[in-house]
Amino acid sequence: MSERLTPIVIVGARGRMGKALLREIIISDSMVLEAAVDRSGGPGLGQDAGRLAGLDELGIVVTDELRPRRSSVVVDFSLAQATEANIHKCTEAGVPLVLGTTGLSKTTRELLRAAANEVPIVSAANFSVGVTLLTKIAGLVAHALGEQWDAELLEIHHSHKRDAPSGTALRIAKSIAKATGRDLETVLRSDRADAHARPRERGEIGISALRGGDSVGEHTLMFLADGERLELTHRATDRAIFARGALRAAQWVVDQKPGLYTMADVLGLGGLG
Ligand code: NAD
Repeated sequence: MSERLTPIVIVGARGRMGKALLREIIISDSMVLEAAVDRSGGPGLGQDAGRLAGLDELGIVVTDELRPRRSSVVVDFSLAQATEANIHKCTEAGVPLVLGTTGLSKTTRELLRAAANEVPIVSAANFSVGVTLLTKIAGLVAHALGEQWDAELLEIHHSHKRDAPSGTALRIAKSIAKATGRDLETVLRSDRADAHARPRERGEIGISALRGGDSVGEHTLMFLADGERLELTHRATDRAIFARGALRAAQWVVDQKPGLYTMADVLGLGGLG
């Protein structure tokens, strides 16, 4: 990890995650806020970033222009539709990107992979250390249990969340599919409650999504067999955990070569297993 202060640019600064990121940077002694960016025409442009985070005035105002300097890291938690433009800005400026935005389209994911040939990028649907471990463990457990145990995931998030199922649930399902040699697109079932409901088929990986209240994010992975059930649960109660994880990734990524990395790489756990 670098000993110098890492300059960070936050994209999506006025959002729930943006404010949590601003707070963590301002109280940190290893990072410095370089810029706070939010969407053009949105409320709060020109607002002081320190005040936005509920802290003292910082003298840096929220702008709608992403212009990162070469020595900085861009941390983007905004909107899937905004991601492609932000990726281009990072490759043009030659700066690393930490991307937390979820619900990315296939085209955006392809662009991300191409951009990773030019700059180092950490992309994760969930920057919590606990969920990174759950994702890793999911593959190991599924491999040990085999397809005789039915894998089902239940995820709960606040009512404002736009995408469903959550990027985290999809990542856990992918880890299970990869560890057991299944093709996720073929075995994924996230529509059990619809009009075409039918009995479960062996080898399916199910995801059920609940939305409501202010839940920061809960994921329960169940392995069900005749006569027994194994459950693994992660509950996030404070979105600061995602902010801390993303900023840990930002300080790690400055020393990396171009490539597409995950939070498991940041934690030294390697691939998803
Ligand atoms: P939010 O709606 O509270 O905030 C999003 C912010 O992005 C808003 O201030 C919005 O104005 C801004 N924005 C929209 N378009 C923009 C643009 N073109 N340029 C700059 N800013 C723009 O949402 P949130 O709860 O903070 O979540 C943001 C994203 O992060 C979502 O995709 C969410 O799923 C994801 N998320 C990821 C993790 C993780 O660990 N990876 C954790 C929590 C949330």
